[in-house]
Amino acid sequence: MRFYLGELKNIVPLENRIETSDGNLSYDYLVLAMGTETNYFGMENIRQKGLPLKTIDDAINLRSHLLLNVGKNIRATDTAEKEKLQNIVIVGEGPTGVEISGMLAEMSRNIVNKDYPELKDTKGNIYLINSGKTLLGPMSPRSQEEVYKVLNKLDVKIKLNTAVKDYIDGKVILAGDETIATSTLVWASGVVAREAPGLPTENIGRGRRIIVNEYNQVPGTQNIFAIGDQCIQSTDKNYPDGHPQLAQVAIQ
Ligand SMILES: Cc1cc2nc3c(=O)[nH]c(=O)nc-3n(C[C@H](O)[C@H](O)[C@H](O)COP(=O)(O)OP(=O)(O)OC[C@H]3O[C@@H](n4cnc5c(N)ncnc54)[C@H](O)[C@@H]3O)c2cc1C
Repeated sequence: MRFYLGELKNIVPLENRIETSDGNLSYDYLVLAMGTETNYFGMENIRQKGLPLKTIDDAINLRSHLLLNVGKNIRATDTAEKEKLQNIVIVGEGPTGVEISGMLAEMSRNIVNKDYPELKDTKGNIYLINSGKTLLGPMSPRSQEEVYKVLNKLDVKIKLNTAVKDYIDGKVILAGDETIATSTLVWASGVVAREAPGLPTENIGRGRRIIVNEYNQVPGTQNIFAIGDQCIQSTDKNYPDGHPQLAQVAIQ
């Protein structure tokens, strides 16, 4: 087994070759497992100014952002500026949005007030926003109700049936033109499979996932396979719309 550090740039199926950021490689079999990336649904301002939570780098970046904000908040004197620094908006009803909302609410209650006594009388809001009608859409009604109850108790402001339209000048713009001032927009609203340039477009399905058969083989090819989050396999009769993009599924 040889490890080769590089970024896939292009697949040339007819020549059994891939092009990478660090040179070309030829293959007998090609197995694609490039996973997903954050989906901004074409909203450029959110891509530029929002904070995704997909990679470890994203998580470290979010932590630094929050700590810097606490420092700025202590020094800020302008009320509008303070409000922006204190409010946190999280978009996405899935496990990522739900987990981070709960975690930040607990941090704000139990840690920030103790570690930063200067802030004990100030209070920002944590909003969890989702365009759908429930949290944890694909999960059981019991989980959905439980998570709603727990987050409410933690004082997370949950806004359902509310789409985010844009993020301009430190304001999150919601459908209906309601706005929330915040310098922290956490974008956990979904993922899209990474591009596999060079594969014919008929091999690309919903969420840009590579369509595979029951052997994870890309139809129309002899020696290209795709696995994990990046592929969609609809041959399992229990999952006609493809399997969920989860680690256990990817491994299996
Ligand atoms: C915040 C968060 C929390 C999650 N929590 C859970 C959980 O609790 N339980 C669970 O089961 N799942 C969870 N998931 C989902 C889980 O992480 C994925 O389902 C799983 O990682 C998919 O594995 P994969 O190997 O298909 O892709 P990945 O783990 O995404 O691996 C893809 C790899 O390909 C590399 N890559 C991408 N593009 C290129 C390129 N062009 N060239 C070379 N390399 C490339 C990437 O750097 C990455 O290392 C979570 C995901 C997120 C974002």
